[in-house]
Amino acid sequence: MRISVKAPAKINLTLDVLAKRPDGYHEVEMVMTTVDLADRVDLTLRQDGAITLDCSASFVPDDIRNHAYKAAVLLRERYQVRQGVHVYIDKQIPVAAGLAGGSSDAAAALRGLNKLWNLGLSLDELAAIGAEIGSDVPFCVYGGTALARGRGEQITHLPAPAPCWVILAKPPIGVSTADVYGQLRVQEIARHPSTEQMIKAIREQDFSLMCRSMGNVLEEVTLAMHPQVRQIKELMEQSGADGVLMSGSGPTVFALVQKEAKVHRIYNALRGFVKDVFVARMLGMPYGEMLA
Ligand code: ATP
Repeated sequence: MRISVKAPAKINLTLDVLAKRPDGYHEVEMVMTTVDLADRVDLTLRQDGAITLDCSASFVPDDIRNHAYKAAVLLRERYQVRQGVHVYIDKQIPVAAGLAGGSSDAAAALRGLNKLWNLGLSLDELAAIGAEIGSDVPFCVYGGTALARGRGEQITHLPAPAPCWVILAKPPIGVSTADVYGQLRVQEIARHPSTEQMIKAIREQDFSLMCRSMGNVLEEVTLAMHPQVRQIKELMEQSGADGVLMSGSGPTVFALVQKEAKVHRIYNALRGFVKDVFVARMLGMPYGEMLA
């Protein structure tokens, strides 16, 4: 028996850091939404109880360091599952890019194994297990649009924002999330985004207010390390993007636009500058309502 699960990328519409916690994590406030740039996670039942993994991108780890593998191990231990699984990841989301590719693979594995192994768990239960794998995994379990607080694992669902196109561009550099947070001086953050205003924009489907409310306090850190990220931002802005922001800790930058003609203009401008350019749509709705 084999099932295929989609693992969509996420983008941050806002990313704010409120404090550094005694446990080493940062207290964050992020508005995130899923886009239809997605990995595909195939899960094939193994009767011998083994967990194995292959990924189309050979540099992605294929053992317990892989978040999807870890998800399978955690579920099997927690619910004394006797069967195993072979996980195959068809990688479409750039790796170490600020798009939560690994977290989304883990979330897809949790959702898929819940069915393959007949566990009957709710999305809330899967999200709680996901939090043990990584801070972004609970959001990826639900998908859609949400406010994430705490270290990112406390999810408040939001309605779908005004529909739009998302053009993503990733310069050929990998960014370590831990490095970026390590260099952030929380007391010195010059400008915090207004999470409240972003939520209002989403609830009212006000595209223009949504674009004006975008903000990410990690941008300054990553931009200082990688000038290419700033160049991509500027290129998107000059090509008529309605909103431009770096996602997560970067280095991927995305542009939001509503008019299709602008999509082509921005895409063509970027393609001369960077190889990894993707055009996607916002998914907006959570899986609960969309996929079951
Ligand atoms: P986030 O936005 O959650 O910080 P990211 O998009 O920046 O994530 P990922 O693509 O998840 O980063 O990869 C970060 C690291 O995680 C990689 O360097 C990789 O070694 C490891 N990793 C573990 N599992 C996976 C996976 N399934 N896909 C990609 N990378 C993975």
